[in-house]
Amino acid sequence: MLPSFSDMLAQLVAEPSVSSTSPDIDRSNLRVIEHLANWLNDLGFRTEVMPLPNRPDKANLIATLGGDINDGMGGLVLAGHTDTVPFDEALWHSDPFTVKDHQDRYYGLGSCDMKGFFPVALEAAATFAKQQLSAPLTIVATSDEESSMAGSRYLLECGKPKADYAIIGEPTAMQPIFAHKGISMMTIQLEGASGHSSDPSLGANALDAMHRVMGELIAMREELATANQNNAFAVNVPTMNLGCMRAGDNPNRICGHAALQIDLRLLPGMDSEAIHEALEQRIAAVVANTGVSLELQKAYPPIPPFQSDPNGELLSALSGLSGNQPGTVAFGTEAHFMQTLGMETVVWGPGSIDQAHQPNEYLDKAQLAPATDTLRRVIQKFCLV
Ligand SMILES: [Zn+2]
Repeated sequence: MLPSFSDMLAQLVAEPSVSSTSPDIDRSNLRVIEHLANWLNDLGFRTEVMPLPNRPDKANLIATLGGDINDGMGGLVLAGHTDTVPFDEALWHSDPFTVKDHQDRYYGLGSCDMKGFFPVALEAAATFAKQQLSAPLTIVATSDEESSMAGSRYLLECGKPKADYAIIGEPTAMQPIFAHKGISMMTIQLEGASGHSSDPSLGANALDAMHRVMGELIAMREELATANQNNAFAVNVPTMNLGCMRAGDNPNRICGHAALQIDLRLLPGMDSEAIHEALEQRIAAVVANTGVSLELQKAYPPIPPFQSDPNGELLSALSGLSGNQPGTVAFGTEAHFMQTLGMETVVWGPGSIDQAHQPNEYLDKAQLAPATDTLRRVIQKFCLV
């Protein structure tokens, strides 16, 4: 009933679906959603395409087999995102949109992160297409995970899907993941006034003010690290990276403008909103009375930290079936949104994050059969009594 794995992957990769906060490279994900909806319809799933508000070029897909998703029958969600990051075409050895089957790897943009998860999930689901499920099996495909997470934010707004368990099929090399840090990125803009360098009173030096801001940020980083540790993470403290600064233009001009970009990664359990607020107040306090004005721009709404029950039923099942101990990762996912919808959520999928967001991204073929097999067993356990 389904096309072959490589046909499905080739068709998904062939549809450009870059998501980006830069509108000039941001693309629609509708063609990817259409392919998935067609295959899932053929398998007997009920499919619902959910266009995002005010974004007719972007949509989520919810496809359900057995039961009614809203009738409280529990069940299992297999979720993934349909978008990819942008790419540097010059650094690819082959066309990023044409799957290349080479040396036991499928090369292509999004092959690993994470279009490749869908054919795995569909092949596992196909086994049950003709069976009577005791709890529904739902496949969810989201938009804009790589940019704003608008797709999963909209799912949360709509209060669906509802189920007891969710697997987010991000590439974890089949290690079940129960926690990751929250991620936020922001730009601190300082606007002073330029003037002749010989007389500081002729302007307001944005770089001098930025020096105070950086001092305050580093002090805050140390306080956060002293107060918060979690040994489930390789880097066991919250981090704040001062990543990029641009300022001024000439040594003999008072620096009129400075902009600093930072990345903040908080541990599960930390109150992101309170910390963001404190950060803003502290930097506002140090630039007060400098004659420099401050503006803080968030790159996108923060990705909240995620932690699920380390003794959860789905986590134990995935650990037992895949033979991999539960762990944590350093990247962000949509897990918080699925968890907030009421599901025990685990991040687990084939492929390695080491190959994601890279030129010549590939999916290791050796992981596909074990991943499909594990998913079949998980569906058996949670959707068939
Ligand atoms: Zn991903």
